[in-house]
Amino acid sequence: MKRSRRVKILATLGPASNDISVIEELARAGADVFRINMSHASHDVLRETVDKIRAVEKKIRYPIGILVDLQGPKLRVGKFADGSVMLTQGETFTLDASDTPGDKNRVHLPHPEIFSSVKTGERLLLDDGKLELRVTANSDEAINCEVVYGGKLSDRKGISLPDTILTVGVLTDKDRADLQAALEVDADWIALSFVQRPEDIIDVRKLVQGRAGVMAKIEKPQAIEKLDEIIKLSDAIMIARGDLGVEMPLEMVPGLQKRMIRMCRRQGKPVIVATQMLESMITAPVPTRAEVSDVSIAVFEGADAIMLSAESASGSYPVQAVATMNKIAVAVEHDDNFMRIIRAQATEPEATASDAISAATRQVAETLDLAAIVTYTSSGSTGIRASRERPAKPIIALSPKLSTVRRLSIVWGLHCVQTEDAISLDDMVDRACSIAYIEGLARPGDRVAITAGVPLGTPGATNMLRIAFVGQDGAGGS
Ligand code: PGA
Ligand code: MN
Repeated sequence: MKRSRRVKILATLGPASNDISVIEELARAGADVFRINMSHASHDVLRETVDKIRAVEKKIRYPIGILVDLQGPKLRVGKFADGSVMLTQGETFTLDASDTPGDKNRVHLPHPEIFSSVKTGERLLLDDGKLELRVTANSDEAINCEVVYGGKLSDRKGISLPDTILTVGVLTDKDRADLQAALEVDADWIALSFVQRPEDIIDVRKLVQGRAGVMAKIEKPQAIEKLDEIIKLSDAIMIARGDLGVEMPLEMVPGLQKRMIRMCRRQGKPVIVATQMLESMITAPVPTRAEVSDVSIAVFEGADAIMLSAESASGSYPVQAVATMNKIAVAVEHDDNFMRIIRAQATEPEATASDAISAATRQVAETLDLAAIVTYTSSGSTGIRASRERPAKPIIALSPKLSTVRRLSIVWGLHCVQTEDAISLDDMVDRACSIAYIEGLARPGDRVAITAGVPLGTPGATNMLRIAFVGQDGAGGS
């Protein structure tokens, strides 16, 4: 299967799409990676969904990435005697440790660690920021607040603390169990919600031990302050605009998106733009103009991937949402200005053999108008460095490891194929040419650029660039 775009599409699976035939339709319509959200999926649903995705992958013979998204310390209030209460501006309201049903004066907050973490004057945002409280006093068992913006507060609504550094780790007990389940089903990526500190990533990396890529979701102001370090420690970043827009003023989000994409492109870390990209398609078969524009901005910024949440998980038009995203991306990438805009944010290669070869390969491929760049990558890191150059030509990433080609399916511009390691230089050229031909990315008579590490099969040693002709039957020639 050949995509006619460079940016990748992530589709979240849920009740609207958790069916093998729908998953196949989504993949054919353009979904490169599927996200399973552990806020909603049980371990049984996780296992069943992974089985379905792997069956589809086998059928369409194209590697699919699986991202398991851990809920993280999403805080919620307890329940009310009447299901909900109305809070009025200027009145007082208390969150406390008693699990008796709440009323208009108080409610249970089932997260004891918070009581002593907050400080007077800090804000508490309820129900996606619709209500705001301000702390007037706190003890080990209660937080007294004044209502700044009132409204209806119902059972189990989310609560955000944008001003507070929480001493809790990034993983709750549920997250630990979910992470274990995700590793058991060989998830390719693990996403961490509400990352606050670089140490959060270090802790999780110790548990994951390289068995999956670790993706940090940026949705807390505390993470924004430590972005550079968090990006450095993570394998990828998700710009989680949903919660980010609750925890920070909404109007800050577009600028932050630009900043994060630039930082990630500079470091060569895959970056995903997420949430509300085609929100209206939850209930309508066509998007709004503003949504089309939002998706196109992420593509023009050179993000690695764009993501659908409820649109594909619980909406009425999951396949149409993926098809729409695909159409927008293809149109943007064929725009005359696209490559110029992408290139304007290009960053210099770092002083490594892999970067020097990647930069030279891009230039050679563009100067000679080659059909494609073929890069042998064992761990995937050379594939990511080749993509970091954002070349105008297709990149084929070859790896003997299925886990590598699946993980790379999230990366801009990489067409990933699993193949055995070459046994000789001739074999390497032959294999590269015939795969480029079979995958429909080169025709007989075309030339391709091939990069590899010599001696062959040594990981992390990309040091060779070769130009080869694709022969009549796709075989390599020189
Ligand atoms: P969520 O993360 O869908 O798990 O909340 C994405 C976001 O907050 O934007
Ligand atoms: Mn979130």
